[in-house]
Amino acid sequence: MAITIMADSFTGLSFEVLFNAMSEAMLLVNDTGHVVLANPVAQNLLGYAESELVNMTVEQLMPIRYREHHLNYRQTYLNDPRQRAMGKGRNLVLLNRAGQELAVDISLSPIKINHQLYVLATLNSTNQLHQVEDALEASEERLQLAKQAANLGIFDFDFEHNTIHWDNRMQQIWENSDSSDGTITYEKFTHAIHPKDLAIYQTTFDKATDPSGDGEFHTEFRVIHPDGTICWVAMAGQVHFEEGHPSRLLGMARDITPRKTLEEELKIQRAETETLFKQQVAIHTASAIAHELNQPLTAISAYSEVALHVVENDQINNPEIKRALKGCVEQAQRAGQSLHELVDFLQKGEISTEKINLNKIVMDALRIARSDGYSEFHVQVHLEPHLPTVLANRLHIQKSLVNLLRNAVEAMRTANIAPSAITITVKTLQEKNMAMVTVQDNGPGVEQAIIQQIFEPFFTTKPTGIGMGLSISRTLIEANGGQLWLDPDTKEGAKFHFTLPFAS
Ligand code: ADP
Repeated sequence: MAITIMADSFTGLSFEVLFNAMSEAMLLVNDTGHVVLANPVAQNLLGYAESELVNMTVEQLMPIRYREHHLNYRQTYLNDPRQRAMGKGRNLVLLNRAGQELAVDISLSPIKINHQLYVLATLNSTNQLHQVEDALEASEERLQLAKQAANLGIFDFDFEHNTIHWDNRMQQIWENSDSSDGTITYEKFTHAIHPKDLAIYQTTFDKATDPSGDGEFHTEFRVIHPDGTICWVAMAGQVHFEEGHPSRLLGMARDITPRKTLEEELKIQRAETETLFKQQVAIHTASAIAHELNQPLTAISAYSEVALHVVENDQINNPEIKRALKGCVEQAQRAGQSLHELVDFLQKGEISTEKINLNKIVMDALRIARSDGYSEFHVQVHLEPHLPTVLANRLHIQKSLVNLLRNAVEAMRTANIAPSAITITVKTLQEKNMAMVTVQDNGPGVEQAIIQQIFEPFFTTKPTGIGMGLSISRTLIEANGGQLWLDPDTKEGAKFHFTLPFAS
């Protein structure tokens, strides 16, 4: 049944005004299939000016492959014109002025104007919809890829049913094999958390589920697998609230065991090197004091002996003076002896050596320096791939390297060097059958006037320095059969080298 609109039935409101104001693309087509009117949205969609569209047949707006079929379709429609969608759910396609195909939904409404039959075709581009769908699909694909790359597990905690929906990856992280339907109760889920981490987990959870907060949830904890092994997990999520109550916690989890293991190793190594450094500071301090006191003590002892001789030779019969002088000699010698014993005691203990891979020690030292707050430098590392092992004490070498790196960073910091850079080179000194490590920075370098002093104990140019780093490092490297020195010919920055003998 045709809708009949009398063109001037609304005073002052013409059909054309309404037609042009529509937000959907519209074509008015006569019974011979020619476009009579095209509104601005249709002109825009098809890329034609109105003057070009008027008098075009609708078939001209279609790809050639549909044109013949459409002629028949149009005839059938005109025999029984009614308001309906075209294509019965099939994708319809129009051609724009540039010859590009546009996916459209078309609905048809027959209109009688002055007893003449017209068809009003409303066009809805589905291209945009497809684009949005494609974009969504692509972004979901990207999310999936990112999820895989980061090895993330996803979970969704439903507070009302006290159930967690989790994906396969999450179940793998928990090593859980009995939630085939992809769900687990919250109690079972938290049961696997290490007892020592439960309190921190619960505090974070309570904070995230507090409706007055922002619902953010971040925590790290250990999960105990059914076989007793332990896995570190980092979890992040967002709590959603409904009517002031937490309703969902959506989040993801990642296995961070390798990172945690590395952190743990670093912690142990750092503690070991710090202990070593403290011991060395004590040894060096005691040695330095012993060295300084040795001469005056020897002198006191010698003077006292001379005085004792004089008293005895001149037959001065004063037992108190004699006793006092003997006491001076004895006490001076005892003090000297005690100092030597103290230094011997501090230095006691064999150095344990092992075959070590210098390339690895360099990378470990870099990690320690960076994690100690000395991280703001660019580094270039030139390792020697097949470097033979050296026989040395791992801690000694590591500590010496960390000292060199710290000194380099401190020098560059003080001089406000940006960007600060350190180059570390490991190579073989064939002629000496030794490995050589070079640490060069782009800081201010060491002034000529103090080059001789920097390896002396207690020499420092830093306000809070103790001047033991280089002295201890040199002692440690020498104790391992190598040498440590400053390159005197360096034009830019400071360049330190040390050597170590190969194991074989
Ligand atoms: P500290 O770091 O406590 O001063 P060190 O024995 O490690 O003790 O260093 C002694 C001195 O050597 C430093 O105070 C500094 O003047 C100088 N020095 C060491 N390394 C560098 C470097 N890379 N660049 C410039 N000066 C350095």
